[in-house]
Amino acid sequence: MGNSFDINNLVRENVKTMKPYSSARDEFEGFDTADMIFLDANENPFENGVNRYPDPQQMSVKAVLAKQKNVKTNQILLGNGSDEVLDLLFRAFCEPKKDNVITLPPTYGMYGVLANINAVENREVLLSEDFQPQIEKIIKAVDATTKIIFLCSPNNPTGNSYSDESVAYILQNFKGLVVIDEAYIDFSKKESWINELDEYPNLVITQTLSKAYGLAGIRLGICYASAEVISVLNKIKPPYNVNELTQKRALERLDKPEKIKFEIESIIAQREELLKVLLDINFVEKTYPTEANFILVKVDDANKRYAELIAKGIVIRNRTTQPLCNNCLRFTVGTEQENKRLTEALLA
Ligand SMILES: *Cc1c(COP(=O)(O)O)cnc(C)c1O
Repeated sequence: MGNSFDINNLVRENVKTMKPYSSARDEFEGFDTADMIFLDANENPFENGVNRYPDPQQMSVKAVLAKQKNVKTNQILLGNGSDEVLDLLFRAFCEPKKDNVITLPPTYGMYGVLANINAVENREVLLSEDFQPQIEKIIKAVDATTKIIFLCSPNNPTGNSYSDESVAYILQNFKGLVVIDEAYIDFSKKESWINELDEYPNLVITQTLSKAYGLAGIRLGICYASAEVISVLNKIKPPYNVNELTQKRALERLDKPEKIKFEIESIIAQREELLKVLLDINFVEKTYPTEANFILVKVDDANKRYAELIAKGIVIRNRTTQPLCNNCLRFTVGTEQENKRLTEALLA
Protein backbone atom coordinates (compact mmCIF):
# COMPACT_ATOMS: atom_id res chain seq x y z
CA MET A 1 0.00 0.00 0.00
CA GLY A 2 2.90 2.33 0.81
CA ASN A 3 4.04 2.09 -2.80
CA SER A 4 0.93 3.82 -4.08
CA PHE A 5 2.16 7.14 -2.70
CA ASP A 6 2.01 9.83 -5.39
CA ILE A 7 2.96 13.36 -4.43
CA ASN A 8 0.92 14.77 -7.32
CA ASN A 9 -2.24 13.59 -5.56
CA LEU A 10 -1.28 15.63 -2.50
CA VAL A 11 0.05 19.00 -3.67
CA ARG A 12 -2.55 21.77 -3.91
CA GLU A 13 -3.46 22.67 -7.48
CA ASN A 14 -2.40 26.33 -7.19
CA VAL A 15 0.97 25.28 -5.77
CA LYS A 16 1.47 22.77 -8.57
CA THR A 17 0.89 25.40 -11.26
CA MET A 18 2.43 28.49 -9.64
CA LYS A 19 5.71 30.10 -10.67
CA PRO A 20 7.84 30.77 -7.58
CA TYR A 21 9.32 34.20 -6.83
CA SER A 22 12.86 34.38 -8.10
CA SER A 23 15.02 36.58 -5.90
CA ALA A 24 18.12 38.43 -7.13
CA ARG A 25 20.31 36.14 -5.03
CA ASP A 26 18.54 32.97 -6.21
CA GLU A 27 19.77 33.63 -9.71
CA PHE A 28 23.45 33.97 -8.77
CA GLU A 29 23.90 31.72 -5.76
CA GLY A 30 26.39 28.97 -6.57
CA PHE A 31 28.50 30.94 -9.04
CA ASP A 32 32.12 31.65 -8.20
CA THR A 33 31.36 35.08 -6.84
CA ALA A 34 34.88 36.10 -5.76
CA ASP A 35 35.40 38.71 -8.50
CA MET A 36 31.80 39.74 -8.97
CA ILE A 37 30.16 42.91 -7.78
CA PHE A 38 26.52 42.78 -6.80
CA LEU A 39 24.35 45.58 -8.05
CA ASP A 40 21.24 43.45 -8.42
CA ALA A 41 19.35 43.53 -5.12
CA ASN A 42 19.15 47.20 -4.16
CA GLU A 43 21.23 46.59 -1.05
CA ASN A 44 23.30 49.24 0.69
CA PRO A 45 26.88 48.55 -0.55
CA PHE A 46 28.70 49.62 2.65
CA GLU A 47 29.85 46.51 4.51
CA ASN A 48 28.62 45.98 8.06
CA GLY A 49 28.38 42.19 8.14
CA VAL A 50 24.67 42.00 7.35
CA ASN A 51 24.13 44.54 4.58
CA ARG A 52 23.63 41.72 2.03
CA TYR A 53 20.63 39.42 1.77
CA PRO A 54 21.26 35.97 3.27
CA ASP A 55 21.66 32.79 1.20
CA PRO A 56 18.03 31.85 0.40
CA GLN A 57 19.00 28.16 0.35
CA GLN A 58 21.23 28.26 3.46
CA MET A 59 23.70 25.91 1.79
CA SER A 60 26.44 26.14 4.45
CA VAL A 61 24.05 25.14 7.23
CA LYS A 62 22.48 22.40 5.10
CA ALA A 63 25.91 20.98 4.18
CA VAL A 64 26.76 20.52 7.88
CA LEU A 65 23.36 19.01 8.72
CA ALA A 66 23.51 16.69 5.69
CA LYS A 67 26.86 15.37 6.87
CA GLN A 68 25.80 14.97 10.51
CA LYS A 69 22.47 13.31 9.67
CA ASN A 70 23.61 11.33 6.65
CA VAL A 71 21.05 12.76 4.21
CA LYS A 72 21.39 14.77 1.00
CA THR A 73 21.11 18.57 1.08
CA ASN A 74 18.08 18.34 -1.23
CA GLN A 75 16.31 16.37 1.52
CA ILE A 76 16.51 19.36 3.88
CA LEU A 77 14.40 22.51 4.21
CA LEU A 78 15.13 25.12 6.88
CA GLY A 79 12.56 27.43 8.39
CA ASN A 80 12.08 30.26 10.86
CA GLY A 81 11.53 27.69 13.64
CA SER A 82 9.74 24.39 13.05
CA ASP A 83 6.55 26.40 13.36
CA GLU A 84 7.26 27.89 9.91
CA VAL A 85 8.07 24.45 8.52
CA LEU A 86 4.76 23.09 9.82
CA ASP A 87 2.89 26.06 8.34
CA LEU A 88 4.53 25.48 4.94
CA LEU A 89 3.33 21.86 5.04
CA PHE A 90 -0.26 23.04 5.51
CA ARG A 91 0.02 25.64 2.78
CA ALA A 92 1.59 23.25 0.27
CA PHE A 93 -0.65 20.24 0.78
CA CYS A 94 -3.95 21.18 2.46
CA GLU A 95 -6.69 22.85 0.46
CA PRO A 96 -8.58 25.26 2.76
CA LYS A 97 -12.19 24.24 3.58
CA LYS A 98 -11.73 20.94 1.79
CA ASP A 99 -8.85 18.86 3.12
CA ASN A 100 -8.24 17.64 6.66
CA VAL A 101 -5.35 16.59 8.90
CA ILE A 102 -5.25 14.21 11.86
CA THR A 103 -3.64 15.07 15.19
CA LEU A 104 -3.41 13.00 18.38
CA PRO A 105 -4.17 15.00 21.55
CA PRO A 106 -2.82 15.61 24.07
CA THR A 107 -0.05 16.98 21.86
CA TYR A 108 1.73 20.11 20.65
CA GLY A 109 -0.80 22.94 20.28
CA MET A 110 0.60 24.42 17.07
CA TYR A 111 -0.80 21.70 14.77
CA GLY A 112 -4.34 22.70 15.73
CA VAL A 113 -3.59 26.43 15.59
CA LEU A 114 -2.05 26.11 12.12
CA ALA A 115 -4.99 23.99 10.92
CA ASN A 116 -7.28 26.77 12.09
CA ILE A 117 -5.28 29.58 10.47
CA ASN A 118 -5.23 27.67 7.21
CA ALA A 119 -8.95 26.78 7.39
CA VAL A 120 -8.17 23.07 7.40
CA GLU A 121 -10.23 20.61 9.44
CA ASN A 122 -8.31 19.09 12.35
CA ARG A 123 -9.55 15.56 13.11
CA GLU A 124 -8.52 14.77 16.64
CA VAL A 125 -8.01 11.13 17.61
CA LEU A 126 -7.08 10.89 21.30
CA LEU A 127 -4.03 8.94 22.39
CA SER A 128 -4.72 5.84 24.52
CA GLU A 129 -4.48 5.98 28.32
CA ASP A 130 -0.78 5.11 28.05
CA PHE A 131 -0.33 7.91 25.48
CA GLN A 132 0.10 5.70 22.39
CA PRO A 133 -1.60 6.22 19.00
CA GLN A 134 -4.89 4.31 18.63
CA ILE A 135 -4.23 2.83 15.21
CA GLU A 136 -7.70 1.51 14.32
CA LYS A 137 -9.33 4.82 15.26
CA ILE A 138 -6.78 6.78 13.25
CA ILE A 139 -7.29 4.64 10.17
CA LYS A 140 -11.07 5.01 10.59
CA ALA A 141 -10.72 8.81 10.69
CA VAL A 142 -8.84 8.89 7.36
CA ASP A 143 -10.73 9.68 4.17
CA ALA A 144 -9.84 10.77 0.63
CA THR A 145 -9.22 14.37 1.76
CA THR A 146 -6.89 13.53 4.66
CA LYS A 147 -3.52 14.95 3.69
CA ILE A 148 -1.34 14.82 6.79
CA ILE A 149 -1.13 12.84 10.05
CA PHE A 150 0.96 14.58 12.73
CA LEU A 151 2.88 12.32 15.13
CA CYS A 152 4.85 14.04 17.86
CA SER A 153 7.45 11.62 19.21
CA PRO A 154 8.68 12.09 21.89
CA ASN A 155 5.34 13.77 22.48
CA ASN A 156 4.80 17.14 24.14
CA PRO A 157 3.35 17.32 26.84
CA THR A 158 3.37 13.60 27.72
CA GLY A 159 7.12 12.99 27.24
CA ASN A 160 6.89 9.45 25.85
CA SER A 161 7.66 8.33 22.31
CA TYR A 162 5.39 6.23 20.13
CA SER A 163 6.01 2.54 19.51
CA ASP A 164 7.94 1.74 16.32
CA GLU A 165 5.19 -0.68 15.30
CA SER A 166 2.48 2.01 15.45
CA VAL A 167 4.53 4.55 13.50
CA ALA A 168 5.53 1.98 10.87
CA TYR A 169 1.92 0.83 10.51
CA ILE A 170 0.74 4.39 9.85
CA LEU A 171 3.59 5.02 7.38
CA GLN A 172 2.72 1.83 5.50
CA ASN A 173 -1.04 2.23 5.43
CA PHE A 174 -1.65 5.97 4.97
CA LYS A 175 -1.13 7.45 1.52
CA GLY A 176 -0.81 11.05 2.69
CA LEU A 177 2.15 12.59 4.52
CA VAL A 178 3.16 11.35 7.96
CA VAL A 179 4.90 14.18 9.81
CA ILE A 180 6.96 13.02 12.78
CA ASP A 181 7.81 15.97 14.99
CA GLU A 182 11.12 15.06 16.63
CA ALA A 183 11.68 18.29 18.58
CA TYR A 184 12.82 16.19 21.58
CA ILE A 185 14.55 13.27 19.82
CA ASP A 186 17.98 14.20 21.20
CA PHE A 187 16.81 13.47 24.75
CA SER A 188 15.56 9.99 23.79
CA LYS A 189 17.41 6.69 23.49
CA LYS A 190 15.32 5.98 20.39
CA GLU A 191 16.78 6.42 16.92
CA SER A 192 15.44 9.19 14.73
CA TRP A 193 13.13 8.18 11.89
CA ILE A 194 15.56 10.04 9.60
CA ASN A 195 17.24 6.71 8.93
CA GLU A 196 14.01 5.50 7.27
CA LEU A 197 13.63 8.40 4.82
CA ASP A 198 14.61 6.29 1.81
CA GLU A 199 12.16 3.59 2.90
CA TYR A 200 9.02 5.79 3.07
CA PRO A 201 8.28 8.44 0.41
CA ASN A 202 5.50 9.87 2.63
CA LEU A 203 7.74 10.37 5.68
CA VAL A 204 8.43 13.95 6.80
CA ILE A 205 10.53 14.65 9.89
CA THR A 206 10.75 17.96 11.68
CA GLN A 207 13.49 18.84 14.14
CA THR A 208 14.57 22.10 15.72
CA LEU A 209 17.58 23.85 17.22
CA SER A 210 15.25 25.28 19.91
CA LYS A 211 15.48 22.50 22.51
CA ALA A 212 18.53 20.22 22.87
CA TYR A 213 20.70 22.49 20.72
CA GLY A 214 20.05 25.47 22.99
CA LEU A 215 19.17 27.99 20.28
CA ALA A 216 15.49 28.84 20.81
CA GLY A 217 16.33 32.50 20.32
CA ILE A 218 17.60 32.22 16.75
CA ARG A 219 14.52 30.37 15.40
CA LEU A 220 15.81 27.54 13.25
CA GLY A 221 13.56 24.62 12.38
CA ILE A 222 14.49 21.75 10.10
CA CYS A 223 12.47 19.53 7.80
CA TYR A 224 13.87 16.27 6.43
CA ALA A 225 11.91 14.54 3.67
CA SER A 226 12.19 13.15 0.15
CA ALA A 227 13.71 15.55 -2.42
CA GLU A 228 10.25 15.63 -4.01
CA VAL A 229 8.50 16.92 -0.88
CA ILE A 230 11.33 19.36 -0.13
CA SER A 231 11.14 20.88 -3.62
CA VAL A 232 7.42 21.60 -3.16
CA LEU A 233 8.11 23.37 0.15
CA ASN A 234 11.00 25.30 -1.42
CA LYS A 235 8.67 26.56 -4.09
CA ILE A 236 6.40 28.32 -1.57
CA LYS A 237 8.76 29.36 1.23
CA PRO A 238 9.48 33.08 1.69
CA PRO A 239 12.75 33.74 -0.21
CA TYR A 240 14.85 34.85 2.77
CA ASN A 241 13.09 33.00 5.56
CA VAL A 242 16.25 32.22 7.55
CA ASN A 243 18.24 35.35 8.34
CA GLU A 244 22.01 35.79 8.20
CA LEU A 245 22.56 36.01 11.97
CA THR A 246 20.62 32.79 12.48
CA GLN A 247 22.66 30.97 9.84
CA LYS A 248 25.92 32.17 11.44
CA ARG A 249 24.96 31.17 14.98
CA ALA A 250 23.64 27.80 13.81
CA LEU A 251 26.95 27.04 12.06
CA GLU A 252 28.96 28.01 15.15
CA ARG A 253 26.87 25.76 17.35
CA LEU A 254 26.75 22.80 14.95
CA ASP A 255 30.55 22.93 14.96
CA LYS A 256 30.59 21.99 18.67
CA PRO A 257 28.80 18.63 18.87
CA GLU A 258 30.71 17.61 22.04
CA LYS A 259 29.39 20.65 23.87
CA ILE A 260 25.81 19.92 22.81
CA LYS A 261 26.21 16.27 23.79
CA PHE A 262 27.56 17.28 27.20
CA GLU A 263 24.61 19.60 27.84
CA ILE A 264 22.10 16.95 26.75
CA GLU A 265 23.69 14.38 29.08
CA SER A 266 23.59 16.85 32.00
CA ILE A 267 19.93 17.61 31.34
CA ILE A 268 19.10 13.89 31.20
CA ALA A 269 20.99 13.28 34.47
CA GLN A 270 19.09 16.17 36.09
CA ARG A 271 15.81 14.77 34.73
CA GLU A 272 16.44 11.39 36.38
CA GLU A 273 17.35 13.13 39.66
CA LEU A 274 14.21 15.27 39.51
CA LEU A 275 12.03 12.21 38.80
CA LYS A 276 13.27 10.60 42.04
CA VAL A 277 12.67 13.71 44.14
CA LEU A 278 9.18 14.27 42.74
CA LEU A 279 8.02 10.88 44.02
CA ASP A 280 8.76 12.03 47.58
CA ILE A 281 6.40 15.00 47.34
CA ASN A 282 3.18 14.15 49.15
CA PHE A 283 0.84 15.84 46.65
CA VAL A 284 2.47 14.16 43.63
CA GLU A 285 0.29 11.26 42.55
CA LYS A 286 2.26 10.09 39.57
CA THR A 287 5.17 10.93 37.30
CA TYR A 288 4.98 9.79 33.70
CA PRO A 289 7.90 8.14 31.88
CA THR A 290 9.78 10.75 29.84
CA GLU A 291 12.21 10.75 26.93
CA ALA A 292 12.28 14.55 26.72
CA ASN A 293 13.68 17.49 28.73
CA PHE A 294 10.47 17.83 30.71
CA ILE A 295 8.38 15.75 33.08
CA LEU A 296 4.61 15.42 33.16
CA VAL A 297 3.38 15.04 36.73
CA LYS A 298 -0.08 14.27 38.09
CA VAL A 299 -0.79 16.11 41.35
CA ASP A 300 -3.75 16.41 43.73
CA ASP A 301 -4.83 19.86 42.48
CA ALA A 302 -2.96 21.29 39.49
CA ASN A 303 -4.45 24.79 39.66
CA LYS A 304 -3.59 25.11 43.35
CA ARG A 305 -0.03 23.79 43.00
CA TYR A 306 0.57 25.93 39.93
CA ALA A 307 -0.49 29.07 41.81
CA GLU A 308 1.68 28.15 44.80
CA LEU A 309 4.75 27.79 42.60
CA ILE A 310 4.08 31.09 40.80
CA ALA A 311 3.90 32.78 44.21
CA LYS A 312 7.37 31.36 44.90
CA GLY A 313 8.67 32.73 41.60
CA ILE A 314 8.69 29.44 39.70
CA VAL A 315 6.87 29.21 36.39
CA ILE A 316 5.85 25.82 35.06
CA ARG A 317 3.14 24.73 32.62
CA ASN A 318 -0.31 23.78 33.84
CA ARG A 319 -1.69 21.16 31.44
CA THR A 320 -4.82 20.25 33.41
CA THR A 321 -7.24 21.33 30.67
CA GLN A 322 -5.64 19.00 28.09
CA PRO A 323 -7.40 15.70 27.40
CA LEU A 324 -6.01 12.80 29.53
CA CYS A 325 -4.01 15.37 31.53
CA ASN A 326 -6.41 16.12 34.36
CA ASN A 327 -4.41 17.70 37.24
CA CYS A 328 -1.17 17.42 35.32
CA LEU A 329 1.73 19.87 35.45
CA ARG A 330 4.68 19.96 33.07
CA PHE A 331 8.12 20.73 34.49
CA THR A 332 10.98 21.66 32.18
CA VAL A 333 14.30 20.35 33.47
CA GLY A 334 16.51 23.31 34.36
CA THR A 335 20.05 23.66 35.68
CA GLU A 336 21.03 21.86 38.88
CA GLN A 337 20.49 25.10 40.86
CA GLU A 338 17.10 25.74 39.29
CA ASN A 339 15.94 22.21 39.95
CA LYS A 340 17.11 22.52 43.56
CA ARG A 341 15.06 25.69 43.95
CA LEU A 342 12.08 23.88 42.44
CA THR A 343 12.36 20.88 44.77
CA GLU A 344 12.81 23.11 47.81
CA ALA A 345 9.67 25.01 46.83
CA LEU A 346 7.75 21.77 46.35
CA LEU A 347 8.86 20.33 49.69
CA ALA A 348 8.22 23.52 51.67
C1 LIG B 1 9.17 23.29 21.18
C2 LIG B 1 8.57 22.46 20.11
C3 LIG B 1 8.84 22.72 18.78
C4 LIG B 1 9.81 23.79 18.42
O1 LIG B 1 9.31 24.76 17.64
P1 LIG B 1 10.31 25.87 17.07
O2 LIG B 1 9.40 26.70 16.26
O3 LIG B 1 11.35 25.14 16.24
O4 LIG B 1 10.95 26.56 18.23
C5 LIG B 1 8.29 21.91 17.81
N1 LIG B 1 7.50 20.86 18.14
C6 LIG B 1 7.24 20.58 19.41
C7 LIG B 1 6.42 19.40 19.75
C8 LIG B 1 7.74 21.37 20.44
O5 LIG B 1 7.45 21.09 21.71
